This record gives sequence, structure tokens and C-alpha cells, in this order.
Amino acid sequence: MDFGLKDRVVIITGAASGIGKACAEEYAGEGACLALADINEEGLKAVKASLPQNKVYIEKVDVTDAKACQAFVEHVAKEYGHIDVLVNNAGTARMGDLATFPEETFRKHSELMLYAPVRMIQLCIPYFKKNGWGSIVTVASMFGKQPGGLLSYDAIKAADIMIDKDFSNYCAPFNVNVNSVCPGPVDTPLWHAPGQLGDQLAAITGKSRDESIEWFAKTNIPMQRYATAKEIADCAVWLTSEPAHYITGIAVNVDGGMVKTTV
Ligand code: NAD
Repeated sequence: MDFGLKDRVVIITGAASGIGKACAEEYAGEGACLALADINEEGLKAVKASLPQNKVYIEKVDVTDAKACQAFVEHVAKEYGHIDVLVNNAGTARMGDLATFPEETFRKHSELMLYAPVRMIQLCIPYFKKNGWGSIVTVASMFGKQPGGLLSYDAIKAADIMIDKDFSNYCAPFNVNVNSVCPGPVDTPLWHAPGQLGDQLAAITGKSRDESIEWFAKTNIPMQRYATAKEIADCAVWLTSEPAHYITGIAVNVDGGMVKTTV
């Protein structure tokens, strides 16, 4: 199948690691021109060096900084002349006791995973309108559909799904589709890096980080394993492809069977 992504200009936030990095690799494979943003500049440089093509623009951007986002989008437009696809991916997650979950953490997560994706969509819309074509995908989560016990994360990912549905209505008249990908647990540094979800889970289970990660898969995921980052990236690429352009306002589970709702 021809995804029609050759020479499309694709912005990916949080592209230095995990799912964002896998998206960069998959879009590069489709011949797209990449514009990669992350707070981790060294990680971005490593991703760029690993990609087999040279149409890769990278910029250190903290997506919680409105001015930095605006400058980044302007730089991308200057670099390539147009912008076609936005992958809203930068994010994080934190487990914690619901009764004492810190308000400050909730606020920071909202800045990163709620306001930033909206900001990026608003910044890209004028370019999509100019093209007469555009495509947006947000990496939300299946925990936006059923609770996973991660208070801020679950609430914000649910809001992301609704934000994409709202923008899908708004953008449809000018030929822009807007969808969400809803991964279950994915094998990325978000689980495996020190202090991240694996360690947070270990503090609850009393097992090691790796044992806790394995235990979670066996007891919670029907397919008994985490998704690969590539499996999530493949879905994002497909949703922003030409063959999927008539699909808009949906939230696709890529979760090994975890979500049991009818949509
Ligand atoms: P990751 O930690 O491997 O990558 C996240 C990236 O976001 C990092 O490169 C990080 O530097 C970047 N980032 C963080 N804050 C930023 C900021 N303020 N500005 C710019 N970049 C910033 O995590 P991942 O697993 O690849 O997660 C990517 C997305 O997928 C997140 O939105 C996450 O919530 C979502 N998700 C992950 C899983 C999972 O199990 N890994 C499941 C469902 C959804």
C-alpha cells in the first residue's frame, strides 16, 4: 500500500525516545521530511544520526513553553516551506496513591500532555489550511478509556481523546483528519528507565523492576506482552496516511486486548 507520505513534512514531539523515536523511524521509511522536537537535545541528535535519510530537522523544544512551540513551528515552515502532519507524542506518566496524588504533578502533566497538544494543533492549523490537506494524531492511551489508577494520566489522556474529536469536527471542512492512538503498555524507557513506571510498580509489588514489568504483562494484558514502540508508530503512520484520510475522530486501541468497551 502506498501511504502517500513521501515528502510530507511531519512534526513529531517527544521524538528523542520510545514511541516518538519509533515514529521518526517509520516516517523516515516512508520518505517523509521530519521535524523532530524534544527537550532532550542529545537524544534528538542520536535519532537524527541513526536515520537513513537526511531530511531531518531537529530542535530542542520544551513543549510546555508556548513561545518555544511557536518558534519551532515557524522554523519548520521556513525549513520546508509547508507542514503536513502533526504527531503529538511528548508525555510521561506517574503511578501514585490517589488520595495523596500531588496537585503540582497533576498541573505539570496537564502542561505537558493537555495544553501542549492543543497548542501544537492550533499552531499547525494555519499551515494545514494553506495546504488544503493535513493530518493530526495524538498518542493518547487506553487509560483514557478505562482507569489504570494513574490519576493525572488517565484523566488527561481521556481529555486528549475528546480534544481530538472536537478538532476532528473543526478541521474536517478544510480536509484535515484528527485521530488518537490509544496504546496499552509499551516497551519504552517510560517503563524501563530508573525512577520510571517499572520502579514505581516495583515499589508496590515488592518485586524487582523487571519482574514487576513482566508480572504486569502476564496479569493485565490479554496478549501477555507489552507493545513494541514500532507497533504504536505503525498505527500513527497509517492514521496520517493518504489511504486513511477519510477516517477522522476515532481513537484506535493498540493494546493487546486490554480495553473491553465497544469503541
Ligand atoms: P519516553 O519517556 O520513552 O519518551 C517521551 C519523550 O518525551 C522523551 O524523549 C522526553 O524527553 C520527551 N519529553 C518529555 N517532556 C517533554 C517536554 N516538556 N517537551 C518536549 N519533549 C518532552 O515515553 P514513551 O513511552 O515513548 O511515551 C510517549 C507517549 O506515549 C507519551 O505521551 C506517553 O504518555 C504515551 N504512552 C506511553 C505508553 C507506554 O506504556 N510507554 C502507553 C500509552 C501511552
